[in-house]
Amino acid sequence: MSERMEQVGKRLLRQLTTQGYEAFWVGGCVRDKLLGRPLKDIDIATSATPDDVMRLFPHSIPTGLQHGTVTVVEERIPYEVTTFRRETDYADHRRPKSVEYVSELQEDLNRRDFTINAIAMDADGSIVDPFGGRDDLKRGVLRCVGEAKERFEEDALRMLRCIRFACEYGLQIEAATWQALLEHAPLLRYIAMERVQAELDKIIGGAGPDLGIRLLGESRLLQHTKEALPWPAAMADGDEPEPGGPSELWPGPLNVLEGADLRWAYWLLQQGVGTEEAREGFSRLRFSSDKTSTITALLRVEAWMAPQLAEAPAAADAPLREALARAAVRYGADAVRGWLRLLAPGAAAPPRAGRAPRDARRHRLHQSGTDWLQAVPATRVGELALGGRDVLAALGRPGGPWLGRLLDDLLLAVALGRLPNERERLLEAARQQIERDAHDE
Ligand code: ATP
Ligand code: MG
Repeated sequence: MSERMEQVGKRLLRQLTTQGYEAFWVGGCVRDKLLGRPLKDIDIATSATPDDVMRLFPHSIPTGLQHGTVTVVEERIPYEVTTFRRETDYADHRRPKSVEYVSELQEDLNRRDFTINAIAMDADGSIVDPFGGRDDLKRGVLRCVGEAKERFEEDALRMLRCIRFACEYGLQIEAATWQALLEHAPLLRYIAMERVQAELDKIIGGAGPDLGIRLLGESRLLQHTKEALPWPAAMADGDEPEPGGPSELWPGPLNVLEGADLRWAYWLLQQGVGTEEAREGFSRLRFSSDKTSTITALLRVEAWMAPQLAEAPAAADAPLREALARAAVRYGADAVRGWLRLLAPGAAAPPRAGRAPRDARRHRLHQSGTDWLQAVPATRVGELALGGRDVLAALGRPGGPWLGRLLDDLLLAVALGRLPNERERLLEAARQQIERDAHDE
C-alpha cells in the first residue's frame, strides 16, 4: 500500500510539473521518508491554484478551499494538494486570519512549525531544506522554524505538537525552542479542548509516552488548558524544568503497555486519580463516551480488586481466581482482561534496591490471570445455557424483578464453578432458589 501510495504520489508531482507548475511532497511524509519510516499519507505543495488542480485531476474534492487545499483521489488514495501559501495575522493564537497564495515554495516552508516538518522533495527525490531540517533529524534535534517565540505565539497548539514530535521521534528539544515553550505555556488556554485531546492521545499512544509525560510535567503546559483538568500531579506539575531542555528517551512503564487506553488507565492509577475525576477530565477533553467508559472500567476493576487482593492469602490461587471471576461478572470480561494487562509494567520492571518487594498476588495474576479468566465458563447472563424465557416457561410464573436477580445468581454460581452451565442443572437450581425464596417470605 505504502509503495503504491508513493508511486502515485510521484506521478501526481510529474503531472503537475509537465503542466508548468512547481510541485513537491512536503511536511510529515518527507520527514518520515528521510527517517525510513512508513508514510501515513502524502501532502503535496504546488504553485498551481486550487482551480488549476481541480481542472487537472477530475477526481478531486475541494476539502479546504479556504486554505487552498484540494484532495485529489487517485487509485482510491487521497492526496492533499495545497497551493503554496503564506499565513498572516494569526488570530487568538491559533488561526491565521488570512492566507495568501504565493509563488515560492520557500515562502510556504516559512510558515511551518518545525525544521523537520519544513522539508520538501520533488519527483526525482531532490530535497529542498532551507532550515536544515535534515541535519536536525540526523542530530536528533527538534527546533522551530525561525524564532520559536513567534511560532508559539502565532499558534499555541504548536507547543503540544512540539512535545509530541519530541517523544514520537526521540528528539531533543533545542534550548531556545524549549525556553520559548516554557514562556508561552499560558497561551495554551486559547486552544480548543478537542485539539488538546487529540495531541495528548497521540503522545500517550505514541512511541515515547513516558518521555511525553515527563515533558508535559516539566513544561507545566497542562496547567493552562482552556478548561482546567482535575488531575494535576505529574502531567501538569512536574519537576523544575531543566535549563538545557530535556534529553534522552525515557523508557518507562507506559511503553510496556500497548495502546493509548491502557496507558491512560495506568497513568491515572499511578497518580491516584479516582474514577469520577478521570471521567470529569475526559469529559473536559471531549473524549468520546466509549473511550471514557473503556478507560474508567479499568479503574473500576482496580478499585474493586485492590481490597480483594489485600485480603487474599499470598500463597493460594483459589481466592485470586474467585476474585477474578467475580470481577468479570461485575465489570465484564473485556475490562478484566485489560486490567490484567496493566499488571505487565510492574512485572517487567527490574527489581530495584530499596523498592517494596513486588506484590506476590499481582505477580501471580500477571502470570496466570489471563488463562484463569479464559476458563471462566460464563461472565454474562447471555452466556448461560438457560434464558429468562426458559425459566418463565418452565416455572409458569409471571415475569418480574425476581427473574433478573435469579439469573444473576445463577451466573455467579456458574462463573465461580459451583454450578455447571447446563440447562437442566440450571433449571433445577432455579426451582430450588424460588422455593427457598417462597419459604423465606
Ligand atoms: P503527523 O501526520 O505524523 O502528525 P505531520 O507533520 O504530517 O505529522 P500534520 O498535522 O499532518 O503533521 O501537518 C502536515 C504539515 O503541515 C506539517 O508537517 C507541518 O509542516 C505543517 N503543519 C501542520 N500543523 C501546523 C501548525 N500548527 N503550524 C505550522 N505548521 C503546521
Ligand atoms: Mg500528516
